[in-house]
Amino acid sequence: MSESSATGQQSKAEAKPRKFQAIKGVRDLLPAETPLWNHVEETAHAVFGTFGFSEIRLPIFEPTELFARAVGGETDIVSKEMYTFEDRDESMISLRPEATASVCRAYIEHNMQQLPQPVKLYYMGPMFRRERPQKGRYRQFYQIGAEVLGGNDAPGIDAEVIDMVMTFFDKLELQGLELDINSIGCRECRPKYVEVLRAALMKVKVQLGADSQRRIETNPLRVLDSKLESEQEVIATLPRMAAHLCAECAEHFAEVKRQLELRGVIYRENWRLVRGLDYYMRTTFEITAQGLGSQNAVCGGGRYDGLVELLGGPPTKGIGFAIGEDRLILSLQESGKAPAPPGRDIYIAWMGEKAFATAIRAAKDLRAAGYRVELPATEQKFGKALGQADKLGSRYALVLGEDEVSSGEWTLKTLADGSQKKYTESELLEYLRDTNVGGQQRT
Ligand code: AMP
Repeated sequence: MSESSATGQQSKAEAKPRKFQAIKGVRDLLPAETPLWNHVEETAHAVFGTFGFSEIRLPIFEPTELFARAVGGETDIVSKEMYTFEDRDESMISLRPEATASVCRAYIEHNMQQLPQPVKLYYMGPMFRRERPQKGRYRQFYQIGAEVLGGNDAPGIDAEVIDMVMTFFDKLELQGLELDINSIGCRECRPKYVEVLRAALMKVKVQLGADSQRRIETNPLRVLDSKLESEQEVIATLPRMAAHLCAECAEHFAEVKRQLELRGVIYRENWRLVRGLDYYMRTTFEITAQGLGSQNAVCGGGRYDGLVELLGGPPTKGIGFAIGEDRLILSLQESGKAPAPPGRDIYIAWMGEKAFATAIRAAKDLRAAGYRVELPATEQKFGKALGQADKLGSRYALVLGEDEVSSGEWTLKTLADGSQKKYTESELLEYLRDTNVGGQQRT
């Protein structure tokens, strides 16, 4: 059917173009919010930089197989939540559900084991998981994360990584922070503990819900994660990892705690904080913040010494964390830490062709000096221009009419109190500089 006959047959109602909306679980970050996002990200660059971390920018999609291996084919993330599709060459690719796998892939691909070890990297950007959307849980969400790869597994590295996240959160003045830490042992001691735990779970099986009953077989550690109210009392009686750590793991954990204390980092031991995958070992940690309801975890992290090897690289130590940026922002907004979106420093109210030429030049000079300038593209009556300047949150209006252009004396109106004064162009720049107009942008 030709295009014209197709449109010819459409009824009027059908011809009305569809009004699109963002897909469920995915959202726009609007100008009222983006200054806070930028502030958070700039703070991350600054704080992580002071700890000697460098930024890595990673692809948004990778071979599906990378995540299946690194995150685990059996996990909810890979088995239910990944956005996976067949590319035109029939290879399977997935939108990244997290970034640790990509960092490890990049470490191997670029032979980073030849650099001075350990290699300290951080990243930020969107991740994709098809979860049930709710407050603090989205299908496109943002993480800021860091990884330390290579070198040894000195407890000082674990402590420093945790110290870095806490320093970052403190700098942002995130409220109600609680840091939970645990050790989940290693390949030697954990399997033995898992068997002890499984045996204990078998004895209380009838008191557990269906999910936990299933996990007794598939992944008993995950039972400890359960938030189900009816299971809490039983879980509290289960054997704990701490009593089953081998001597090396026990010593490592004790030293991580001692070093956190040396750094003044306040933590709480939480024996139920676990990771379900084999390559995770020893230190795990989670940080919660206030104002987030049930989705209150803002950061999760831990040691994963076997992961690089699992992805075909050399044996490599690894530890890292991922911060949920959306939740971090929500918490800051709840506690009133959001900066106001920037208005304009100067609105140029011009009238007449000659004045417009001067206005264009003035805008160029003021912008070059770093001021936020609004230059209306069409002529407006002064009254209307001032109203518009006010609506845009401008601090000043620069009034340029015929008089100002011919005398070279420009009128600067302070919108807060309506006062005004005349300046030559160079006096104006000097005045703005002396009164520190432009705030953050020009510091
Ligand atoms: P994970 O990669 O699952 O260890 O998650 C690390 C952090 O990312 C969590 O503590 C959350 O703050 C955040 N996060 C994970 N999934 C989501 C999601 N669907 N929406 C928003 N934030 C999330």
